[in-house]
Amino acid sequence: MSQEWNIRSRGHVCSFCQKPLVDRAPVVSALKESADGYERFDCHPECWKTADRDWEPFSQWDGVYFAPVKEEKKEPLKKEDAGEILRQLITLDDPAMKNVVYVLAVMHERSKILGERDAKEQPDHTIIRVYEHRKTGESFIVLDPRLRLENLSSVQQEVLALLSGTKTLGEVSSAEESQSDAEQAAPPETETTA
Ligand SMILES: [Zn+2]
Repeated sequence: MSQEWNIRSRGHVCSFCQKPLVDRAPVVSALKESADGYERFDCHPECWKTADRDWEPFSQWDGVYFAPVKEEKKEPLKKEDAGEILRQLITLDDPAMKNVVYVLAVMHERSKILGERDAKEQPDHTIIRVYEHRKTGESFIVLDPRLRLENLSSVQQEVLALLSGTKTLGEVSSAEESQSDAEQAAPPETETTA
């Protein structure tokens, strides 16, 4: 499961015709499952319709392409780019952090940093959710572990500690690890808590 956590940046040329995507024009984005995660496609809507494809997308959504904005030189780099901790966490790929990753993604979605693009239920009833960063267009593939409601507030506290810098990733990871050991005996819950 863990190798399915993934980040994919948005392309700037069409994946099929290789011509540039047009600023503020519609774009079709898709994820294709591959051996080492997901391959992302971004393309002109016409190309998506007409291109020869011998595969079905894992996920597909319509969006609007925005050309990258050149950073203003005078503005100092923000200490905390929105989504940066999530990016680090996904890259870290630590199974003990799966609840933290998910809660952080949901918080970013609520504050409009991310938009949810797709959700796929897995045979074990977890859900793979595809989020897109509204500013950079990156896709974040996040496992929704179907958190139990009684565990939600402790995870939220860990996330807030991370965001405020009072805890490091390592500290949160070991706290989550001992938490998940304690949960091993708990019976599964079918209701979603999102
Ligand atoms: Zn094209």
